[in-house]
Amino acid sequence: MPKVLIIGAGGVARVVAHKCAQVPEVFDKIAIASRTISKCEEIREEIREKTGREIEVAQVDADNVHELVALINRVKPSIVINVALPYQDLSIMDACLEANVNYLDTANYEPRDIAHFEYSWQWAYDSKFREKGLIAILGCGFDPGVSNIFCAYAQKNIFDEIKYVDILDCNAGNHGHAFATNFNPEINIREVTQIVKYWEDGKWIEKPPILESDSTHFSFDYPIVGANESYLLYHEELESLAKNIKGLKRIRFWMTFSDNYLTHLRVLKTVGMTRIDEVDYEGKKVVPIRFLKSLLPDPAKLGTNYTGKTVIGDIITGRDRKDGKERSIYIYNVCDHAESYREVGAQAISYTTGVPAMIGAMMVLKGVWKGSGVFNVEQLDPDPFMEALNRYGLPWKQVEFNGKLPD
Ligand code: NDP
Repeated sequence: MPKVLIIGAGGVARVVAHKCAQVPEVFDKIAIASRTISKCEEIREEIREKTGREIEVAQVDADNVHELVALINRVKPSIVINVALPYQDLSIMDACLEANVNYLDTANYEPRDIAHFEYSWQWAYDSKFREKGLIAILGCGFDPGVSNIFCAYAQKNIFDEIKYVDILDCNAGNHGHAFATNFNPEINIREVTQIVKYWEDGKWIEKPPILESDSTHFSFDYPIVGANESYLLYHEELESLAKNIKGLKRIRFWMTFSDNYLTHLRVLKTVGMTRIDEVDYEGKKVVPIRFLKSLLPDPAKLGTNYTGKTVIGDIITGRDRKDGKERSIYIYNVCDHAESYREVGAQAISYTTGVPAMIGAMMVLKGVWKGSGVFNVEQLDPDPFMEALNRYGLPWKQVEFNGKLPD
């Protein structure tokens, strides 16, 4: 009986499939299904070559609940890992409920016609998952995902009370293309062109988008890779962490962008290429951002010549539980693009997302993460997950932080 069904066959799904295949004692059977079956077959070939294991492949339209239910009933997994796109979250959750199977994803639901993401749509499924005695785990990639787990770990083991959290996501890699996005271009561009928000004293504070001349940014000296310009950005884990980390006064998210990336994106936006509504082109309806996606490099294929590293982590300030003094710690992971590619044929952004998704599924299958209902990962025990990060390819470090962040 296959234990895991992976939906999607892009950059992240490739990593999830490879990592599950490396742990046969937990994932004794693996199936992968996506819209384009040839991509699943390609992953199957790679896994056969690297591990000698066979995985099952299937074609599915994950917007279609009936098709999904038929697939799940045939494959009979214990958990579905959704690494298709955020548009499919609700249909896959509906199918999991109908077919009585646990669910895990790495990005929260977003409707196609508005560039807006929030948890309310998926949190509304809590009672349905509870009634069925099933668990749905939301946002189990790196950020969201590990960035939430770092907070939960600090809350459980280090602090009496956490006051400030700054999540810093740096990609200091070079893929060699003039312009490319590191995960699905449509989702990535929708995320980074929106109004920026952070949470302070119980309210959301809005700031201009990263493309504006008055956006908020500063240079942060990252471990190993050095100084990189880091931009304030709204990111989905802020919503759940603001709710689940008790006593929190402020939480912000920062991401590095190169001038080259910002200049390209500014021009694309100015000329209308990032629009998400339909425009009429020679009698045909075209959505510019989807057309743009078809022209940009496929993030799943970026790994070939990618060099450099990602450094992603949390700076957390709070009252130390031993002596009650205020203290700041920095917990982070460094991941190398070329090493990720050698191991699983994918760059570090896909790797850092896919490994936590595999670990989350492993926590459920081993009975370490239990419960019924819809959970963000910071609501579950962080300790076994933190140990698994060290063991399965994303080792982390904790240091004191004595540097300065913007007020
Ligand atoms: P890709 O675009 O590379 O892959 C998406 C896959 O989903 C493709 O194989 C695509 O099929 C498939 N798909 C899309 N629509 C459907 C559908 N209707 N039915 C079946 N399959 C479908 O994206 P990534 O791998 O880069 O990202 C995957 C997910 O991971 C996204 O949700 C992204 O937001 C999330 N993510 C999360 C991060 C985190 O840290 N939490 C970081 C990075 C990504 P086809 O090949 O036919 O297009």
